[in-house]
Amino acid sequence: MKQTTGNTTRKGLTRSLDRRGTRSDMSPPVAQKQRPPKDPSVCDVCGSIYTAKTWRRNRALPANLINAAAWTICPACKQAKSGEYFGRVLVRGSNASSNLQAIRARIANVERRAEFTQPERRIVSSKWDGATLEVLTTSQKLAHRIARELQKAFGGRARYNWSDQDGALTAVWEA
Ligand SMILES: [Zn+2]
Repeated sequence: MKQTTGNTTRKGLTRSLDRRGTRSDMSPPVAQKQRPPKDPSVCDVCGSIYTAKTWRRNRALPANLINAAAWTICPACKQAKSGEYFGRVLVRGSNASSNLQAIRARIANVERRAEFTQPERRIVSSKWDGATLEVLTTSQKLAHRIARELQKAFGGRARYNWSDQDGALTAVWEA
């Protein structure tokens, strides 16, 4: 029973992602970058390593390849520096504001876990204006995961809205 619910949710999400994927003028925001870097490459800023078409953090580069590696700046570092974002999480509600510390810790934790396997998913900024916590992320997937994790941990309700313009996601979590 539980599994059926899970599958339905995932299907709904996959559908909306696929719909965006069919737009011919647009590849997924994070993947849509110039030419791929040399394999292997090392990010000068965060130390992520690029090989076999993916950027990974905390991956050891074999000693014999260190001299062969090209130094570059990974897409996440470039994006984070320019303040560009494709995901936005808005945290609202009285329950949310009274648990702000715990919520922020949870968000940081979600980012840390994502960063380990997918260094291109980062938090660009996080701002609390007294009523709403606005978290900007480099990828819509990270924003989606944050809102989902918050709902799982603290209850409340998350809503997702993908922009037709650029595929950016705004997730609103209210508790
Ligand atoms: Zn980097």
